[in-house]
Amino acid sequence: MPAPTLLDIQRIAPGTRDLFELQIARLPTHTAIELPIFVYKGLEAGPGLLVTAGLHGDEINGIEIIRRMIRNQQLMPDRGLVIAIPVVNIFGFIHSSRRLPEGKDLNRSFPGTSKGSLSSQVANVLMTRVVPLCQAVVDLHTGGGSKFNCPQVRCDFSVPDARSLARSFGARCIVHSKPPDQSFRKEVSKRNIACVTYEGGESMRLDEDAIQVGLSGVRRVLKHLNMQNNDQDEAGPRPEYPKTSWIRAPHTGIFNARVTPGQLVSRSHIVGVVADPFGEREIVVKAKTKGLVIGVNHRCVIHRGEALVHLGVTS
Ligand SMILES: [Zn+2]
Repeated sequence: MPAPTLLDIQRIAPGTRDLFELQIARLPTHTAIELPIFVYKGLEAGPGLLVTAGLHGDEINGIEIIRRMIRNQQLMPDRGLVIAIPVVNIFGFIHSSRRLPEGKDLNRSFPGTSKGSLSSQVANVLMTRVVPLCQAVVDLHTGGGSKFNCPQVRCDFSVPDARSLARSFGARCIVHSKPPDQSFRKEVSKRNIACVTYEGGESMRLDEDAIQVGLSGVRRVLKHLNMQNNDQDEAGPRPEYPKTSWIRAPHTGIFNARVTPGQLVSRSHIVGVVADPFGEREIVVKAKTKGLVIGVNHRCVIHRGEALVHLGVTS
């Protein structure tokens, strides 16, 4: 089998877009699964920006962000190349699932191989055919499971290009996070491509605020990279958190959150109550440090030790 080749962007005339539908695998029924990739080529030469969503198939806000940008014709650059993949994990999207049918998390399957599992094959297609065309990547996510994330950008603060990309995005806050092993961001970063992860809202729900922050953010990134002359305002300084910390359930029971994502809390602030379902006991949960609430678990029946509230902390 010939080695996989880059997307044939030569076939696209400057100032136009093209749709590539890459066959990535077949279902047991022989049904071919194709990965739709939208490529926009500016009239002038410039950098390549990849915008991805739906690596986790149940995280819909990012998919909606790219969908609206396609619909409203906001992805065409004046300079360079924009590659948009609204649903990377087609299999998960069909099944409303974070994972692929074999049970693997695509975002722990990079860089992948052409002969590996389904998730490994999808990762390999992205890394060999698409990523080498880009100098920057914005990967759109939501909180996993029932965790709601305050609109935030995550990047490795020790990588200057990624940090300035994160600052240009203008989400509510910027959080330092080293990318996990075998994640998309880690493998992209290894190739010296600036990569940030946007997190907004929760899985299987559309959240208009998270969508709007994401829409503005991608447009600001296009402006920051000097790829597009759009009318998006510049992001002012946003709070930056070099550390994060989870507040965990002290007991099993029903969790009533008393904070909302984006709220600042001080030490000893009551962030919620865990109660037994029979009205006998209520345990108050307090913050151990001051910080910004960057995520809240919306699952109401929780077990001891489970993550409840995620804080961005400065020290
Ligand atoms: Zn995700």
